[in-house]
Amino acid sequence: MTVRVRFAPSPTGHLHVGGARTALYNYLFARVMGGTFVLRIEDTDAERSTDASVQAILNGMRWLGLTWDEGPGVGGAYGPYFQTERRALYDEYAQRLEAMGRAYPCFCTPEELEARRTEQLARGEDPRYDGRCRALSVEERAARRAAGPRPALRFARPEVAEEVAWDDVVRGRVSFSSEVLDDFVLVRSDGLPTYNFACVVDDVGMAITHVIRGDDHISNTPRQLLIYRALGAPLPLFAHASMILGPDGKRLSKRHGATSVEAFGDLGILPEGMVNFLALLGWALDGKTELFTLAELEKVFALERVNPNPAVFDTAKLEWVNAQHLKRLDESDRVARVLDWLAAH
Ligand code: GLU
Repeated sequence: MTVRVRFAPSPTGHLHVGGARTALYNYLFARVMGGTFVLRIEDTDAERSTDASVQAILNGMRWLGLTWDEGPGVGGAYGPYFQTERRALYDEYAQRLEAMGRAYPCFCTPEELEARRTEQLARGEDPRYDGRCRALSVEERAARRAAGPRPALRFARPEVAEEVAWDDVVRGRVSFSSEVLDDFVLVRSDGLPTYNFACVVDDVGMAITHVIRGDDHISNTPRQLLIYRALGAPLPLFAHASMILGPDGKRLSKRHGATSVEAFGDLGILPEGMVNFLALLGWALDGKTELFTLAELEKVFALERVNPNPAVFDTAKLEWVNAQHLKRLDESDRVARVLDWLAAH
């Protein structure tokens, strides 16, 4: 099996620490395994996605030295690599699921959904879609399609509850009951796919073997597994890296200061220092060795050694790691880089 991994950022801002670490782990795993590192831009959210963010993310990755084998600017056999250019594929898979009876059109309006949601909350229930449109007959569907605006497409979750579980490379066995999920939306009424649907169509279509991403996506994984099952598609392995906390124990955010890799560059952090520090945010070789170049990491990185516990972002550690890399540079290189930095600032 040839390993194929992907980094799939949504271009809604800069490349931040969490995303950069995800990109790095995917890159390193591909290099260690002699596999392929794919960059896919998840830009289906038209309101929040910008070209400037795409450029910022690509620049951040280049700065870190994380070259991609397939993706924007390089192409590849599994393209296009922007989700907005893959609409035909989502439509095709949506039709396939609908024809199989695993998806159905939903005509409920946002106002109706909101009203029912409020009622459910008032009754102390978890708000979820009540499955109303699932029961419509073929004739009713045809009539409502002809009459009104385009419906959304919902996934028909299994009638009989099933276990949805996977052996996570980082966290071990993770299991959910399909009962906790509702008939979630695959394609919105504006025709755009939701993240969960587009992600599975692309991971299947791009022959992704390992999905390495942040643990904020764990609750999406059972939905995605159900889609794989419905499609009869082979499953990738999943690895969910822990979240990154600020020194106060709260999830790392702008409140904690610089969070984009670019901003660290502006502060004088070398890409070598940043890469090394990011690698150690939730991964260790042997608990002793702390200094690595990217080339060294490409030889020793092991996904099984990614720690499931939250990693704490320690600025003092970043500065120390960076200082070690600064010392390692030969003098002419160090001077050149300092002059570049001064000129830019
Ligand atoms: N676009 C998603 C994100 O940026 C990708 C998640 C995934 O890797 O599946 O969070």
